Amino acid sequence: MSTVRDTYEAVIGLEVHAQLLTNTKQFCGCPTSFGAEPNTNVCPVCLGLPGALPVLNREAVSMAVRTALALGCAIRHRSVFARKNYFYPDLPKGYQISQFDQPFSERGALDIPLEGGGNKWVGITRVHLEEDAGKNLHGVAEVPGKSVIDLNRAGVPLMEIVGEPDLRGPTEAVAYLKRLRDVLVALEVNDGNLEEGSFRCDVNISVRKRGAAAFGTRVEIKNVNSFRHVHRAIEHETARLIAVAEAGETFRQHTRQWDDESGRTVFLREKEGSDDYRYFPEPDLPPLILEEAWVESLRSGLPELPEARRQRFMHDLKLPPYDTEVLTGHPKIGDFFEAVLQAKPGDAAWAKRAANFVMTEVLAEARVHGLEASFPAKPAQIVELLELVEAQTISGKQAKEVYAAIKNTDASPAAHVAEHGMAQVSDTASLEAVCRAEIEGNPKQAAAYRAGNAKMIGFFVGQVMKQTKGSANPSLVNDILKKLLA
Ligand SMILES: [Zn+2]
Repeated sequence: MSTVRDTYEAVIGLEVHAQLLTNTKQFCGCPTSFGAEPNTNVCPVCLGLPGALPVLNREAVSMAVRTALALGCAIRHRSVFARKNYFYPDLPKGYQISQFDQPFSERGALDIPLEGGGNKWVGITRVHLEEDAGKNLHGVAEVPGKSVIDLNRAGVPLMEIVGEPDLRGPTEAVAYLKRLRDVLVALEVNDGNLEEGSFRCDVNISVRKRGAAAFGTRVEIKNVNSFRHVHRAIEHETARLIAVAEAGETFRQHTRQWDDESGRTVFLREKEGSDDYRYFPEPDLPPLILEEAWVESLRSGLPELPEARRQRFMHDLKLPPYDTEVLTGHPKIGDFFEAVLQAKPGDAAWAKRAANFVMTEVLAEARVHGLEASFPAKPAQIVELLELVEAQTISGKQAKEVYAAIKNTDASPAAHVAEHGMAQVSDTASLEAVCRAEIEGNPKQAAAYRAGNAKMIGFFVGQVMKQTKGSANPSLVNDILKKLLA
């Protein structure tokens, strides 16, 4: 049954602010290191003292250009920095240096998977460079009841990635954010930590009747700091905006904030238009000129991007979409898997066996944080283990036992198997004796099998496995039993 809600659609565009992983700030040499004493990573430039002049960080430009290239953006070889003027205590200069009408890149796109299968391209309006503000702190122990400001973050390089309003619901929005984060992490330009605020998301959302061409009045939900919050905030706000539209109410464009505890958005402030910021070209910085040759050298130096790796896993290795998603979920997970693959390049059966083992065993205890990941075993150990299975020296079940014993150590799986006499029994003569004894000991079941109950073979295989404490090669046992029961 269709509801009123189904007659509307949400129109969503995301703005992501990503902190660039440079060693120094955007326009001065202060370190960007996290966790320093408040107001120690500062200098006249990032404090906004009169007469201090900004100098652009080449590393930040390189990271942002690589990102824009990875997102398929066109690069403008001449761009301009602009002052965005506003007053806020954490902004010592009284303006933020950003890019406005002449950003260094524009018109890219990002491919996202759709819920029901298939994919969709989401437009990227632009990627531009700007700088972070400081941080207001409330309720600090040393200064109770007061608000204080830490300017260590002021001037840290930020990259803003503005997406087109091409998203139509919370699931698409989260898929977009995850894909974008994967790209930034693969490029090693950002650590992708939403919770820690180094990857921040503003949600622009409006609703309109399905089929309508015009956009409804939009609201902006500021700084939503987890994928789950983005999903919930969009779900809630869509319902709220539809209710407002159905009631025939109008409102002005404004900014809201997601309150996860109450599960709703709350009014924050009237939205400033760009006129309110009185943008003008930054007089202390020359236009940014990106030489064609330099841009091309950055382009040719791009690593394989997550999407290309996904395509390769799916098409060359014939891995199912689920496995592909899991194994490309973080660049370091992909690297680990590829190291196991390298033992038998291009072997699809090996790839599937490796995928299963890595997903069920290794990833169960892998830790991923930012750009880093740690695993309980080394790829070489997994290769050795899977080779033992492939050679039928041990069974798949035994492989899990061996893995449990050798993980978090440098031990060799083959050595462990030898030491513990774990090699599966593939000695036909000794297995035949066990099989014969089981058939003689269970005449009723043997008769049932001979009378046509083929399933009874499972009973005998089980008995033999029990007798041999799981060390028999099950497919060999199966063959012997069939022969003896025939
Ligand atoms: Zn500084």
